[in-house]
Amino acid sequence: MPAAYAASKENTRGRRYPEAMPSMRSEFQRDRDRVIHSSAFRRLEYKTQVFVNHEGDMFRTRLTHSLEVSQIGRTIARALELDEDLTEAICLAHDLGHTPFGHAGQEILNECMKDFGGFEHNMQSLRVVDLLEEKYAAFPGLNLCFETREGILKHCSRINAALLGDLGARFLNGTQPGLEAQVANIADEIAYNNHDVDDGLRSGLIAVEQLRQCRLFRMHHDAIVRQWPGLASRRLTHEVIRGMINNLVMDLISASRGKIEVHAPRTIADVRNAGESLVVFSPDMADMQLELKRFLRVNLYHHEYVTNMTRKAVVIIRSLFTAYCVAPEQIPEGYRGQDAERDQEYGRDVLQRRIADYIAGMTDRFAIAEYERLFGAQDGHARFFDARVNHL
Ligand code: MG
Repeated sequence: MPAAYAASKENTRGRRYPEAMPSMRSEFQRDRDRVIHSSAFRRLEYKTQVFVNHEGDMFRTRLTHSLEVSQIGRTIARALELDEDLTEAICLAHDLGHTPFGHAGQEILNECMKDFGGFEHNMQSLRVVDLLEEKYAAFPGLNLCFETREGILKHCSRINAALLGDLGARFLNGTQPGLEAQVANIADEIAYNNHDVDDGLRSGLIAVEQLRQCRLFRMHHDAIVRQWPGLASRRLTHEVIRGMINNLVMDLISASRGKIEVHAPRTIADVRNAGESLVVFSPDMADMQLELKRFLRVNLYHHEYVTNMTRKAVVIIRSLFTAYCVAPEQIPEGYRGQDAERDQEYGRDVLQRRIADYIAGMTDRFAIAEYERLFGAQDGHARFFDARVNHL
């Protein structure tokens, strides 16, 4: 039974287009189901997390990343007596707006859109569920509950926040989102820090000895080596990672329980007005997690191999954007045709916004194929990206 400070059908701020209550599911369960049935969710399977999708079948994609986030999120939500379905809905939807080629894709699309309102992946995730999914006769998008949308919009610039009314208000007035959104946000970090250690080691771009610079990794690694001397490296890595995830999750639950006890919120409104996030690590764990995050930024995300991929992604996305601006007829009908709802909400710069929507929705391989179609590149995917991590 969720606590009184959790989101619930009694305190939800509802949907943009009112709908009858579902008969056999909760409102938030319905949101979760709508996310799973969306086409943007299926496309996450072919979108880069860190490694481009075809670089190896063992690496995380945005889809498996989102599933890991939701597993971690549910565990924390249950322990903190929150709404698990809402937490899961936010976790599964949090990356729906990501471009192909990971952060490199988002950065270059933002640059292409700089004179037309910019591009933010969190805003785009919201745009996907509010407008771009075409599923229902009565409304655009998935018509999700306020609390789900609030969780999906993890960050937002002040300019965009001002355009979003109620949903953007917290970025302007400094209030907090519900606890389910706070949990989903940290579950995302726990998931990627750990699975990027795993994928980084698997790729050979980072090594165990290097990772031992990080206190959290070193602690778990050395304990497992003491307990299981001579353990094969794959099993050792997995034992270390599961130990780290468990440690992070347990710490988060206990530190958050402490915060909740201190603030003693009685309603979700109390949570929103608490003045700080109530889902937190202990100070020591926060330091260790930050250290690991910084390590991954320097040694994995900025590794020459990964940045080389980034440069190619920049060429592809910038070329596609320019080509579609010059020749909009290259975009499928649905994206350039008149859609009253979208035009009304995003009245200015309609063409550029549609191009950004179209490119952001692409999978890695579709973007490459489209680049080859438009620019006549002869190389196949693997040769184009000069895949080096193919010994896996
Ligand atoms: Mg994520």
